[in-house]
Parts: sequence; C-alpha cells; structure tokens
Amino acid sequence: MQRALKRRNGEGGDSTTPPGFPVPGSPALDAVASMIMSARQDYLNALPIAAAIVVDMNRVPVVVARNAQFEMLDGVSMSLFEGSDPRPLVERESLRSDIRAFLATDEPATQFDWHDGGGVGGRHFIVRMARLTTSADQERRCILSLVDRTAEIENERSLRAEMLHDSLTGLPNRVAFNEAVEQAMEADVGQGRFAVLAIDLTRFSRINESMGSIAGDELIITVARRIVKALRAGDMLARTGGDEFGILFRLGDGGVKDALTAARRLQATMATPFRLTDLEIQVDCAIGCALATDLVGDAEDLIRNAQFALKRAKQSGDIEIYRQGEVSAARRRLSLETELRRAIENAELELAFQPLIDLSTGRVSSFEALARWDHPERGPISPIEFIPVAEECGLIVPLGRWALDAAIASLAEWDRRAGYNTGTHVSVNVSAIQLVRDDVIGAVTSALERGGIAGDRLTLELTESAIIGDPERATRALLGLKDLKATIAMDDFGTGYSSLAYLQKLPIDCLKIDRSFVTDMITDPDSEAIVRAVLSLAKALGMCTTAEGIETPELAQRLATLGCTWGQGYYFARPLRSNAAYAYWRERNT
Ligand code: C2E
Ligand code: CA
Ligand code: CA
Repeated sequence: MQRALKRRNGEGGDSTTPPGFPVPGSPALDAVASMIMSARQDYLNALPIAAAIVVDMNRVPVVVARNAQFEMLDGVSMSLFEGSDPRPLVERESLRSDIRAFLATDEPATQFDWHDGGGVGGRHFIVRMARLTTSADQERRCILSLVDRTAEIENERSLRAEMLHDSLTGLPNRVAFNEAVEQAMEADVGQGRFAVLAIDLTRFSRINESMGSIAGDELIITVARRIVKALRAGDMLARTGGDEFGILFRLGDGGVKDALTAARRLQATMATPFRLTDLEIQVDCAIGCALATDLVGDAEDLIRNAQFALKRAKQSGDIEIYRQGEVSAARRRLSLETELRRAIENAELELAFQPLIDLSTGRVSSFEALARWDHPERGPISPIEFIPVAEECGLIVPLGRWALDAAIASLAEWDRRAGYNTGTHVSVNVSAIQLVRDDVIGAVTSALERGGIAGDRLTLELTESAIIGDPERATRALLGLKDLKATIAMDDFGTGYSSLAYLQKLPIDCLKIDRSFVTDMITDPDSEAIVRAVLSLAKALGMCTTAEGIETPELAQRLATLGCTWGQGYYFARPLRSNAAYAYWRERNT
C-alpha cells in the first residue's frame, strides 16, 4: 500500500534532467513549473481523503498544496498549515515534529495514529506520509494524508465501556476482570504478589426460583455492596457470572495466608442475613482461590484455576486453594473419558491373561483377565489410569460387561482348541461401582450362556470397597453369583478395611493377598507376619488364598511352604494375550 502510494505519486522528476526537458533557468521553465503545479493540484483533488504536499524548507515542514478535503478538516488545516503561506507550523508540535522527522529520513512511507487535543472534542487521525521523488532542486517533499477516525474511536470507546461493565451491579464484568488480571500478571512478573478469588453464592438459584428474578437481582446488588465493603482499596471485585464474583486480591507478606484470611472475612460478612423486602435471607458463599505464580499460564488460566478450586469448595464447604496441575489432570481425565468411550464402542480394548499357579503342583489353575488399552496415538494406557476414569463416569458398566464376555469367550476358545474342557478358570475383576450400578447377576448369566461355559469356571474378583459401600446390595449380589456357582475372590486383601464380620457372613471363597505384602515379605518381618496372618485367617474360615506379585522363585517357594494355595506374578508369567495364554496352559498342564 505504501509502495503503491509512492509509485502512483508521479510528482516531481528525476534528479537528472530527462531528454527534452527544459534546462534549469531557461525561459520555458516557468511554464513547465506551472504545468507541474496544476498537475499536482489535479492529482491532490482526485484523492478521496484529505491530502497535502509538504516540503521541507530549512527543517521546517511547509504545506505547498492541498486539496479541498484537507482544507475542510475543520480547524485543523488552517491552524496547522497556515494556507500556502510558508510559515512554520506553530501549533500541534507533535505532528509537526513527526513530519519533520519523516522528511529528514529516507523512509519511503510511514503511517501512524495521531491524537489532536485531549479529552472531549479531541480528534483522532490516521496520518500517512509517502515520500515524493526529489525534484531537481533537491527539496525533500512528501504527500501527507489525514483520515479522521474520531467518530469511529468514540463509538468504540462507548461500546467498550458498555462491554466492560455489568449493568446490574455496575461492577467490572468478566471481560474487564480478565483484563485487570492480565495487567496485574504483567506487573507481577511471576512474583506471586496477588491472588484471584472466585466466589459463588451457594443457594442463589433457589432464591431466584422461589422469590423471582427481581428479588434475585436485588440480592446480587446487596451482596456485591457487602463484598466491596469488606475489601481493601486497590482490590478489585468483578461480577464474572450470574451469581459468581471474582476478586483480584493483592497479597501482603503473608502470601496465601492473606488470601485465606480475606476469604474467611468475606464468608463472615455473608453470615449476617440479607434483608430482602420483608424477608431475611441467609446466603452462603463458596470461595476458591488461586495464586499468581510463575507456573500459571495467562490470566484466563489463573481465573480458571480459581474456579476449579471453587468447584471443590462447593463440595467441601471449605475455602479451597488451587493445587498445581489440578486442571491439567482433570483435562486429561476428561479427554481420556471421551477416548475410552470411543475405544469401548470400537472394541479397541483387549484382555490379557495372567496365570494363577497351583503352588503345590505347578499347574495352571486359572487366568486373571486384565484389561489392556493400546491407544492408537498415546500408546498403552495402564488400567491403573483408565479404570478409575471409567468408574467415575459410569463407563465401568459397559467395560465390565465387555470384560466378562471377552474372558468367557476366550475360555470357550481354549476349550475348543484343546478339543475338551480344559477345566481352567477365568477370573474377572468386578469394580465396586459396577456392583452397585449394574445388574451383575444378569450380566454374568448372559455372558455364561453366550459362551456356553458353566458358572463354576468363573471367578469374580471384588475389592473390599465393593462390600463396605453398600453391604446389603453387595450381599444380595454375592449370593446371586453363588447361585450361578461362580467363585468369589476378595482382591487386594489387606489394603482395605475388611471387617471380620463381613468375611464370615459373606460367601467369599478366596482371599488374594495384596502384592505389597508379598513383595516385602522377604525383607520385612511385618509383611511376612501379615501374610502369615491372612493365610491362617483364610484357613480358619475355610477359604483359599492367592498370593499376588510373586517375582522370584524364593517367594514362590516360601509361600508354598506357608500353605498358600495359588501364586500369581511375573515369576510365573506376565499377563499374556489369549493365544499365548493358551500356549502357556498347554505347556504346563498337558
Ligand atoms: P489387580 O486386580 O490387583 O491386578 C493385578 C495387577 O498386578 C495387574 O496389573 C498385573 O499386571 C500386576 N502384576 C501381576 N503380577 C505382578 C508382578 O509379579 N509384579 C508386579 N509388579 N505386578 C504384577 P494391571 O494389569 O496393571 O491391573 C491393574 C489393576 O487394574 C488391577 O489390579 C485391577 O484392579 C484393575 N483392572 C484391570 N483390568 C480390569 C477390569 O477388566 N475390570 C476392572 N474392574 N478392573 C480391572
Ligand atoms: Ca484382580
Ligand atoms: Ca489385586
């Protein structure tokens, strides 16, 4: 654009005189000069914006020609450029010096905003200058244009003012709050001298529903006033949502403690009931807090961190402070949830089978089915990560059903390949959540039917939490499973809070001693004592035992000696894909 301007100007001539051009000083020169002058004027007149030609005369910019629009720049052109009178530009020193500076350089073109006069009545221009090729007399000259943007900028300004305020409370709104936090962060440069508090009125929606939105509005205004009073000058309160407020809070030497004290003070000011018309209303507020540290990304992030802490505060009823990494962990969980749903739908999960070895004979007695997820982009994701996600979002129900089906299908396949009933069991993990949410008995029944497998070849592994959560429901489920002749194993035994009463009352067949005790057994006498205790407890209750996590022959030997029924662990085999599991079984059992 600037180059185009320069090329189009056509004014002036080359510094060397072209052939046929009158020699300087010749009689024809005046005529030519006036031709050029009028051509220049025509050119200026043809421009749709205010434009003039300015010449540098002894470091003083002087307007030598201008178009009608330039003259019409009300009050500006006259006082600025004093017509064709080659007088210095007296006023508007800033613009004058910009023009002078431009004329002194070799820049081909320039553009900037110029503000003429401050406050009301001030005017805004876009100023453009493009150099005109130097004429024979070596004058420095340029074409200057001014575009008046005053109306546009004023519109923008009033729109912005509207955009930045909440009309109900007059407080800064979310946009303004973001900007303020952004500025505070820039000034703070990671020193952590301020915090963002997010406040939510806990019972607000109920008040709105029962008393109407006018009462709700009144309450918001009153609450806002009360909060403002509780703040120090310099802290900023904004209404960031319907019943959500944000505070930009400067921290003193107390750091986090300052923020906590302020949050408590705020909660205390809310404790006094609010008067709305004739009613007294009790409003509680939840407060989440996030500190500006150099680990926080931008203002949006900091505010989101505070809102994340707020979410926890709503649950805990306490003032909560954001913990580093909380949002990203939640985000990973959320994306994992979406992808897990897809993986289940597309049958992208697989089962691995880890043998349980009879410690007295060395034969395979069962295979534990363990879910495997090989994510197409992220690679293998551990069940330790995705099972809790599945439990949280309810996906554990379809996942659990799939695991049952797939495990039984593999068992049927092994029988088919062997040509006879291999007698091997499969053990399937059943989550506590699944036990509560799903009709586990129905699911097991149909899975067995589909696979043509008898119930006595299925073991279900449950954790202690499955029983503690809802003992009655768990009892019913276990009894139902026993009716199907399935075996019940108590997984991770020793890590939970099993009460002996449950162990005795419930139809549990087997205890799986948690890997942590087994691993430490050789070196830690306490762990060995626990393992011995579990073994003798199981014996007393007539239950079998499995030791998890056997990684060495010594451990296998020791556990066999102590009377443990089965052993499972890397020493025997890692979890294997279905084919490999079958091969393992063949090798050990035939
Ligand atoms: P778990 O039921 O306690 O399963 C045993 C875990 O110990 C498995 O981890 C297994 O690979 C691992 N393990 C076996 N032997 C050894 C050993 O010698 N040394 C070591 N260091 N580890 C050994 P995995 O496959 O990562 O499974 C983790 C947990 O995920 C399982 O713990 C189980 O609670 C859960 N899980 C896996 N698949 C399913 C499923 O289909 N449904 C449900 N509800 N939970 C499942
Ligand atoms: Ca298990
Ligand atoms: Ca276990």
